[in-house]
Amino acid sequence: MPVTTATLLNWLRHAAALIHEQRDRLNDLDAAIGDADHGANLDRGFAAVVEALPAGPETDAGSLLKAVGVRLIATVGGASGPLYGTAFRRAGMQLEGAQTLVGQDVLTALQAFLDGITAIGKAERGDKTMVDALAPAVTTLAQALGAEVALDEALRRAADAADAGALATVPMVARRGRAAYLGERSVGHQDPGATSAALIIRALADAG
Ligand code: ADP
Ligand code: MG
Repeated sequence: MPVTTATLLNWLRHAAALIHEQRDRLNDLDAAIGDADHGANLDRGFAAVVEALPAGPETDAGSLLKAVGVRLIATVGGASGPLYGTAFRRAGMQLEGAQTLVGQDVLTALQAFLDGITAIGKAERGDKTMVDALAPAVTTLAQALGAEVALDEALRRAADAADAGALATVPMVARRGRAAYLGERSVGHQDPGATSAALIIRALADAG
C-alpha cells in the first residue's frame, strides 16, 4: 500500500468522522477526570480541518500536515489543541515535498508526531496521557516494518497497540494535564486524550 496525499486526505476525513461519532464518549471520559470538553474540542478542530482540506491531492504531504497542525492550534483549544497541532506540524516537517510515502516515511512522521507531543507536554509513558497510546503505536510500527510486514498490516498492528495503550491508562495515576490535579482519584478512568489518539491511529490504518 503506497501512502499518497490522497491517502492522507482519506485519513483526515476518517479521523474527523470517528471523532465526531465518539464526541460524547470523549466528553464523558473527560468529565470523569477533567472538564468534559475533549470531544467538543476535537470535533470542532477536526471539522475545521476537513472544511479547509484541498479538494484534490495536488498538495504535498508535508504542506498538508503542517496546515492541519496550524488549523488545529487555532481551533481546538485546551491542552490537546497545541499538543495535536504541534504533532501534525512536526510530522509535516518530516515530509516536506513528499508525494508518495513508503513505510519508513510513515514511521518517521509518526515518530515526529509523538516527539512533538512530548516536546510540548513533557509526559512520559505511564503518565496517563495521549503518549500512552502513541508510544506503543510507534514502537509496534517500527517492529513490524523491521520484520518486513507490509505497511497496511503494520499500521493495523500499530492501531491495535494504540487501542491497548489507551485501555492500559485505566489503572494509571495521572501526572500531566488537568487530570493530574485529581492524583489517585484519576485511577479507574480511561484517559480521553489516549482514547482520541487511538482513534487517530485507527483512522490512519483504515485510510489505505
Ligand atoms: P484540557 O485538559 O485543557 O481541557 P482536553 O480536554 O482537550 O484539554 O485534552 C485533555 C487530554 O490532553 C488529556 O486526556 C491528555 O491525554 C492530554 N494531555 C494533557 N496534558 C498533557 C501533557 N502534558 N502531555 C501529553 N498529553 C497531555
Ligand atoms: Mg478537557
